[in-house]
Amino acid sequence: MVPYVIRRSGRSRRISVTLDCQNRALLTLPKRATLKAANEFLGECGDWLVDQLAKGAKTRSLLEYLRDKPFLTLNGKKNFVSFAFTNRCPYCEYNIKTSKVLLRYDPHTVNELRIREALKKFSKPFITQRLQTLCELKSIDPPQRVTVRDQSSRWGSCSVSKGISLNWRLILLPIQLHDYVILHELAHLKEMNHSNSFWGLLLSYDRRSHKLDQKLDEAGREIISLGQSAA
Ligand SMILES: [Zn+2]
Repeated sequence: MVPYVIRRSGRSRRISVTLDCQNRALLTLPKRATLKAANEFLGECGDWLVDQLAKGAKTRSLLEYLRDKPFLTLNGKKNFVSFAFTNRCPYCEYNIKTSKVLLRYDPHTVNELRIREALKKFSKPFITQRLQTLCELKSIDPPQRVTVRDQSSRWGSCSVSKGISLNWRLILLPIQLHDYVILHELAHLKEMNHSNSFWGLLLSYDRRSHKLDQKLDEAGREIISLGQSAA
């Protein structure tokens, strides 16, 4: 069973189907096509439609995600997110005393990329600071450089020149996973591979590393895809 909407168009010559923004099948019929023909056509598209709907269901917008899970990891703590209006570009306000983040945006002109830019900009000082704190806590020599970027498929990377680059979406991860990614990249400063000595070092920073690596793989999949569509 697939929810669908039928539209008649004088310009179309054959029956076609697309997905609309609410993830419903939008069936376009030429003026004279019968509903029976439309139903048969929809039946033939079955597999394709189910695939498309499954894909669509996974790609929530950043705002939808945050409204559902209104938390950001900042300074090694969980912070509650609420929402408010602005008629300017979206931005975040942070109340350090209450650990609350206010994300301001204009619902009339809201745009996924602008929300992403606001969160990315907001995340930078917190992620950089957390890396420094972890270096102090674990007595690790800090990297030459830390950059926070919008990688599409990686949580972080470490270069031969001892620079660490981290994905801004770390603030969307729970605290344990947030810190795990940072410690993982810090371990790469000394071991540029995933050898036994790398894991030995990483486990000395956090004994739960194997488990967290697996958790990141599962829990991180949806989060890393957030904010990547231009919708
Ligand atoms: Zn690695």
